[in-house]
Amino acid sequence: MDTKYDHKLYEDKIYKEWEQSGAFSPVVDKKKKPFTIIMPPPNASDPLHIGHAREVSTQDILIRFHRMTGDPTLWLPGADHAGIETQFIFEKKLREKGKSRFDFDRETLYQMIWDDVQKNKGTMESQLRRLGASCDWSRNKFTLDPDIVKIVYQTFKNLYDDKLIYRGKRLVNYCTKCGTGYSELEVEHIDQEAKLYYIKYGPFVLATTRPETKFADTALAVHPNDKRYKKYVGQEIEVEGLLGNFKLKVISDTYVDPKFGTGVVKITPYHDFNDFEVWERHKNEMPEPKQVIDKTGRLTEIAGKYAGVKIKAAREIIENDLKEMGLLEKVTQNYLHNVGVCYRCKTILEPIPSEQWYINVKPLTTKALKSIKDEKVKFVAKKYEKIAIHWLKNLKDWNISRQIVWGIRIPAWKNKETGEWVITDGKAPKGAVWEQDTDTFDTWFSSGQWPFATLQTTKKGDFEYFYPTSVMDPSYDILPFWVIRMVMLGLYRTNKVPFANVLLHGLVRDKNGVKISKSKGNVIDPIDMADKYGADALRIALVRGVQVESDNSLSEENIKGQRNFSNKIWNAGRFVKDFDNRVDDNKEFNDYYQKEFPKKITLLLEKYKIGLAAEELYNTFWHKFCDIEIERAKKDEISSKQLKEALMVLLKLLHPFMPFITEALWHELGNKDLLLTSKWPSISNV
Ligand SMILES: [Zn+2]
Repeated sequence: MDTKYDHKLYEDKIYKEWEQSGAFSPVVDKKKKPFTIIMPPPNASDPLHIGHAREVSTQDILIRFHRMTGDPTLWLPGADHAGIETQFIFEKKLREKGKSRFDFDRETLYQMIWDDVQKNKGTMESQLRRLGASCDWSRNKFTLDPDIVKIVYQTFKNLYDDKLIYRGKRLVNYCTKCGTGYSELEVEHIDQEAKLYYIKYGPFVLATTRPETKFADTALAVHPNDKRYKKYVGQEIEVEGLLGNFKLKVISDTYVDPKFGTGVVKITPYHDFNDFEVWERHKNEMPEPKQVIDKTGRLTEIAGKYAGVKIKAAREIIENDLKEMGLLEKVTQNYLHNVGVCYRCKTILEPIPSEQWYINVKPLTTKALKSIKDEKVKFVAKKYEKIAIHWLKNLKDWNISRQIVWGIRIPAWKNKETGEWVITDGKAPKGAVWEQDTDTFDTWFSSGQWPFATLQTTKKGDFEYFYPTSVMDPSYDILPFWVIRMVMLGLYRTNKVPFANVLLHGLVRDKNGVKISKSKGNVIDPIDMADKYGADALRIALVRGVQVESDNSLSEENIKGQRNFSNKIWNAGRFVKDFDNRVDDNKEFNDYYQKEFPKKITLLLEKYKIGLAAEELYNTFWHKFCDIEIERAKKDEISSKQLKEALMVLLKLLHPFMPFITEALWHELGNKDLLLTSKWPSISNV
């Protein structure tokens, strides 16, 4: 036996043995209840980050534990095409080569991204193996697999046939740089200081941060109780403007804050979400909305001589022109307001009118809420249940169109002559008049179907046996994007919830508690760490002493410290292997290691208290087994036989957390079968 444990000599070899043993694939036994986790599919285009390593460790611990207790256990891996994120990263690569997406036609661009993704997908999968993920590769799925796409199409068609899909001209949050719209959930809000322009509108002066949108005004509005302006309500007023005189009607609406500016605001329905709502309430009192900003962030033809100018430049030119014409009363600085920005490129998002596909979410959220109330779906941490309920209650109709090529193209065709739309299950309708929607589905629309779509397309009988799954465990930050959509769409398509329990794990932060990101320069690469200290050290460092639902602080020092634990385990193994004292067994000793301690760990794992279980194992192994029992054995108070048996139990209990070193030692101690498939020491009755 090697005097020192060198993880590099063992980890790859052991993983291959596990994989070749076929034990990652469950044996279906109708008499037994399966334990199933569908892995949140990592982005196919990215290598794994440290957050994934925490996710993988958490799930693999549960999976290995259940497999050892004898449950038919399935952990289904997969990869997400991650529409907009992937296209964004690919476009960045193009830019580095001096190209842009506009240099290629749709098919070429798609193929280029596809090839790039296939390459990276392999990297991601080998990294999962590197971390010891004992998932069933024979059931590996990708969100763009043809059979998955077919299901996604069918869901869209069903929703359409059920009149839950409609085409709406609505405002979307649009990034003029990335060239795509975002759903409300994806918008990042920041506070920003802006200038406030006080512009003369006939007899009024009104304050706005956006003078460049004034060409699309359709009304002026005041608060109904504002005595100053009562006499104007319902009147049309004449306004002198940059492009000549025009008329605007004054309406009253409680949305207006009499204390903001002068208490009069302009209504620009196509460029402000609140104004759009005002327009919907007062449609009969004002003209149709007008669009003055286009998708490239330039002013449209209705801006006359300002047409084609970009927003920021237009704002400055207009400020000067208003000043020259005596229409600008004053400009104040540092007005703090909240704006939505693109979460990828931080460009301020423009509310822009666009025709898109929407899901009427109400019937879906109602069922989802009921399933939570009825405890069909249970949240391990109650605080996340509250958040889920909040999102479900407040979810607005879901815009599922994305203006990108990477993803699942929407199976909707428009008749070029009549403008009529048809939805199919993927096939083009007959005739040359039909042209397909160029948009793709929001990536959460397809990943929201992941639990049933995967199990319906793997092996025959999988869906019937493994669905609903046992646990869903993404990080808590995607609860509103993903978890609630899976419940909604799962119920819609299968009449069953997709999973019984929602375990949401926290994020990994650096040692100062700061979120880990490339821009902050505090990245801890999981594969580097596994190479340096072993996958086992990394895995236990990520979970030990941390509540699953909480964030944890990680540093390289932590991981290094756990490598010392690996060494401690190895050295204990070396001692026990050769130790032989031939004395009688000590009764009290066996009780603890064969019953009491295994039961304690089992109970903790059944309650998802993984961090506490790891802590108990660490302390017991190091400070009890090594520091006390080995010394007692040297004094012949414990027999070598029972010392060895106790070590076997500890290896089993440690296996889910540190699978490689425990497997290696297991064989060093003379066991022929895999520790991976050995029997868990204690099954509790709870
Ligand atoms: Zn952007």
